[in-house]
Amino acid sequence: MGVRHAVVAGGGIGGLAAAVALSRRGWRVTVCERAPSLTAVGAGIVLAPNALRALESIGLGPDVWAGDALLGPVGLRTPDGTWLSRTGTSAMSSRHGPPACAVHRGFLIDALAAALPPGVVRLGVSVTGVDDAGGAVVVRTSGGDLRAEVVVAADGMRSVLRGQLFPRHPGLRHAGEAGWRAVLPGVGPPGRSAAETWGRGERFGIVPLVDGRIYVYATAAVGPGTKPADHHAELTRRFGAWHDPIPALLDRLGRRNPDAVGILHHDFYELASPLPRFHSGRVALLGDAAHAMTPNMGQGGCQAIEDAVVVAHLLADDADVPAALAAYTTARHRRTTRVSRRSRRIGELARLSRPLAVSARNLAVRATPPAVTARALDTVLGWQPPSCPASPTRPSATTEAQP
Ligand SMILES: Cc1cc2nc3c(=O)[nH]c(=O)nc-3n(C[C@H](O)[C@H](O)[C@H](O)COP(=O)(O)OP(=O)(O)OC[C@H]3O[C@@H](n4cnc5c(N)ncnc54)[C@H](O)[C@@H]3O)c2cc1C
Repeated sequence: MGVRHAVVAGGGIGGLAAAVALSRRGWRVTVCERAPSLTAVGAGIVLAPNALRALESIGLGPDVWAGDALLGPVGLRTPDGTWLSRTGTSAMSSRHGPPACAVHRGFLIDALAAALPPGVVRLGVSVTGVDDAGGAVVVRTSGGDLRAEVVVAADGMRSVLRGQLFPRHPGLRHAGEAGWRAVLPGVGPPGRSAAETWGRGERFGIVPLVDGRIYVYATAAVGPGTKPADHHAELTRRFGAWHDPIPALLDRLGRRNPDAVGILHHDFYELASPLPRFHSGRVALLGDAAHAMTPNMGQGGCQAIEDAVVVAHLLADDADVPAALAAYTTARHRRTTRVSRRSRRIGELARLSRPLAVSARNLAVRATPPAVTARALDTVLGWQPPSCPASPTRPSATTEAQP
């Protein structure tokens, strides 16, 4: 059998990870990315142990990500600075493998792109649809048709291919929140610790990046389309009286961004309901195209990377493509649905705003020992990638640690 051709729609985190994983399994890959460059829009992204293991399985090991710059303790605080919980790195580390690390999205995209053979990515090319052509698929793009044995739809939460393949699916729904993100230069918190502070319907997060910069984010429970005229003024109004170092960080954000350039603001969306499956014939959906979830667990990108590694594993050697993609749905659907549901629940808790409910929530979080919190994350962070190099046996849903 000659070298088979895979077309990947979308050169984001999931698409590029799939392209790397498929190339390593011997596929000739073409990535169609509609943007004119791979410059990632975005701020920081946390790569949890499950994603770090998945990346390592496709040749992107710890040296690429962090060196000695892994995240330190992770904690939850109240606006006056009281710690509700604090998880030590060592406890997390021994339980789930390496601690998480946080990188700029651009760094992650560059690292994935650098791991690809030359000529794989076609920029400024939009995928507009797919047509079944018997033993292959014809991919319609703005740069002409492409023929492929398999298509990976990694075209993000507003996926065109999801719309074509699942026309009755309701699509996205607003998650009841909007968020701000920015990256600041300068010295981060001591011990490389990361913290999120939960108020009443509002959150503020501080995460040190591996390059020494600080990733800050904030959320507010607001309806769709609620866009403040001045983002920095709005952040200061909401969070300016919270515990240190939040006021100082906001001040720096304002000085560096007198006209608020550099502060990203987005409504949060998720899929209104799970797709019936993550494949259709010779097309596999992955990442946000398959299971767009709220960012509350920091797992959307991590799950996209897991998807990429698993689908490439199942497509290894001379695997029958439709059967491999059916196995991909079996391996990924339940896991990603659970993670999405959990992420949504965390958001519901985090954006409580009634004083009594907030007090009860905070009491419950404080009463939970860190070891219990760490154990509760086993199924998400303890995930193991299928073995690499390719084995003829397929991974099953057992690659997910069971509760
Ligand atoms: C505020 C916020 C914070 C987050 N924090 C984290 C975190 O800490 N950790 C984590 O793991 N996840 C996080 N996520 C989630 C994560 O960003 C997404 O899950 C991840 O980017 C999904 O990757 P993807 O490749 O599926 O989609 P995307 O990254 O959206 O990439 C899709 C790509 O497809 C391209 N495209 C779209 N349509 C077409 C088309 N028709 N033809 C060709 N190209 C097309 C787009 O230009 C884009 O490059 C966060 C999300 C948000 C909103």
